[in-house]
Amino acid sequence: MAMPARSQSASKAPVAAAPFLPFARPTIDEETIAGVAEVLRSGWITSGPQVKTFEARLSEYCGGRPVRVFNSGTCTMEIALRIAGVGPGHEVITTPLTWVATSNVVLETGARPVFADIDPVTRNLDLDRLEAAITPATRAVIPVDLSGLPVDRDRLYSIAKKHRLRVVEDAAQAFGSTWKGQRIGAFGDFVSFSFHANKNITTAEGGCLVLNDEREAKLAEQYRLQGVVRTGHDGMEVELVGGKFNLTDVAARIGLGQLPHLEAVTARRRELARQYFKAFATAGAGALGLGLPVADFANSNWHMFQVVLPEERLTIKRAEVMAKMQAAGIGTGVHYPAIHLFALYRRLGWKPGDFPHAEYAGRNILTLPLFPAMQDADVTRVAATLIEILVSHRKP
Ligand SMILES: *Cc1c(COP(=O)(O)O)cnc(C)c1O
Repeated sequence: MAMPARSQSASKAPVAAAPFLPFARPTIDEETIAGVAEVLRSGWITSGPQVKTFEARLSEYCGGRPVRVFNSGTCTMEIALRIAGVGPGHEVITTPLTWVATSNVVLETGARPVFADIDPVTRNLDLDRLEAAITPATRAVIPVDLSGLPVDRDRLYSIAKKHRLRVVEDAAQAFGSTWKGQRIGAFGDFVSFSFHANKNITTAEGGCLVLNDEREAKLAEQYRLQGVVRTGHDGMEVELVGGKFNLTDVAARIGLGQLPHLEAVTARRRELARQYFKAFATAGAGALGLGLPVADFANSNWHMFQVVLPEERLTIKRAEVMAKMQAAGIGTGVHYPAIHLFALYRRLGWKPGDFPHAEYAGRNILTLPLFPAMQDADVTRVAATLIEILVSHRKP
């Protein structure tokens, strides 16, 4: 094997002793844990003062735009589409390489999700293909900032303006990311964030939607809770079909304890990502054809560090690589299989070959451990272990 001796010892010797390294792990500080206990003892545990405060802080972060919180970063997108008037007969364009929530919400509204292939370098929606996919039925586009790397917002909004499309940014993974110095969330049309346990800022489960004005914010509140509008002491009216999407004060308190750490979290993730690039360069990833992410240290919040395995050069598939990583005490993840190949979506007419770049990534993309509490030495071990597995299963 062509492995440098140092990498071999780094990957082999400490493996047995090292605790299992998951690909993601939330960090909740003691002050937050105490704060949650306080909420639990307060007598008010569902949506209340913590939710109001969390929304106010998020709005400050988003340059004063209206923000409402919800119990997921999925309902946020569905609600944005409903506010935009998207429904049966309409098309919404998105990427096939995302969490299936992104296109499922389009189906929920009765509209048709339309996919456009990814750019294999950024792994985000290819904006040329997006523009080519627009028809008279297109009402909205849902760009996704995969792993926190932002879609080109200048080009995106110029296309949206030209074709009069609404934009629902699926920025689930992009809290803390920026575009040319502006925070994602502080500009644009609808912006949806997720606070799922694995995201950079978490409420265990939850999400928020950044809106354009108070009218939209009021509608979002109605969609959030059964369409109800209350007035005075006993007034209640219902004009639209809402759901049950409100966030609890318990969860909001977790979020309030997370926000002050955002800058440090993003900085630490960027540092770990830099370490990955160094470790992979040292271990010889280039010669193996391993696909590395875009080395963006200005905009991306490094929600994930994802590599793409060179399947044409390997004798094993991703599942076996993952099993070998796991046996070495390293957790990995798949984000994501290409959506259009799921049974539900094939029934709607998509088939293999429709989006070759997304399909290749969907088969070969691999998420490596990256979270703020990780040690630099963990990065070295992950990179060396992966390279060792790939080297020993190269096609002759
Ligand atoms: C996490 C995530 C979602 C959904 O968020 P939930 O809070 O789990 O509903 C949607 N899109 C993308 C790209 C995500 O990563």
